[in-house]
Amino acid sequence: MLIVMDRTATPEQVSAVVETAEKRGYRAHPIPGAQRTAIGLTGNRGAIDSGAFENLPGVFEVVRVSHPYKLVSREFHPEDTIVSVGGVPVGGKQVVVIAGPCAVESLEQVVTIAKAVKEHGAHLLRGGAYKPRTSPYSFQGLGEEGLEMLSAARAETGLPVVTEVLDASTVDLVAAHADCLQIGARNMQNFELLKRAGQSGKPILLKRGMSATLEEFFLAAEYILSEGNPNVILCERGIRTFSDFTRNTMDLAIVPAVERLSHLPIVTDPSHGTGKRHKVTPMSRASIAAGADGIAVEVHHKPQEALSDGPQALTPAMFAELMAEVGPIARAMGRSI
Ligand code: PEP
Ligand code: MN
Repeated sequence: MLIVMDRTATPEQVSAVVETAEKRGYRAHPIPGAQRTAIGLTGNRGAIDSGAFENLPGVFEVVRVSHPYKLVSREFHPEDTIVSVGGVPVGGKQVVVIAGPCAVESLEQVVTIAKAVKEHGAHLLRGGAYKPRTSPYSFQGLGEEGLEMLSAARAETGLPVVTEVLDASTVDLVAAHADCLQIGARNMQNFELLKRAGQSGKPILLKRGMSATLEEFFLAAEYILSEGNPNVILCERGIRTFSDFTRNTMDLAIVPAVERLSHLPIVTDPSHGTGKRHKVTPMSRASIAAGADGIAVEVHHKPQEALSDGPQALTPAMFAELMAEVGPIARAMGRSI
């Protein structure tokens, strides 16, 4: 942190800032300039409380020069992290495709869709057994039964399973069936869940909250890493804006922003990101062109009968077309798919 003193600050005021910093265990480095003095602070083990300095006499402004997150930052860990989900590497050269229904509805439904997406080249199977629904009257998911169906679909297809965990009390149960725990947008700042998931030993797919800044997103991931679990995949799934032609606004610029600041892989979810089936393939292409490490796409063999998110589900045939279109883009980016 850099404390910039006012042009009229006295040497006593500079000394008082230095003393305050030292009392808090930091080292203070005054840098006299032609117009004013700045004081650099080092030796902190976490974020420095800028409030302790802002109101001291003679202080003009307090400038943060480092980030409040550490373990997720590229500064701390320069190499890309590759997360293995049931043996599938996420964050390496290969672009990963996660596909499946929004919700597990029956054994027949999830196995049919799993086989279809596998046939067309998906690497991981998605599907919710616990569904966070806006209305309490909407389908809430099959719960443990749904988890068993996902395990059966994995046994049938070999696709590792990504599924959502809604609360800290079901982490162990979901982890017993899942290869990767998904933490949804609505739970991005459920700190008890983040900590518990961090202790689960499973990789985590962390979705961005619908009004989360990049820093809040990173700090949510930091909760998981700080529990000793470095296997976090970030997922951009669209944020709330004033745009009215999509369900959410897919903030694709977050892909290069994450890549610059963090070593964690980032995938996108063009299904929830747009909410409309016809926009899913274009935004999948764009995601891969922007450098995303993967995409998560909802697929249903009978979208008109889906119990959740039918309007954004691709049919297996549309998913096959998507896969054909993204292959050349991945290769143009020097990646495989
Ligand atoms: C989902 O992926 O099934 C889901 C509920 O997504 P989100 O948390 O992004 O809304
Ligand atoms: Mn959904």
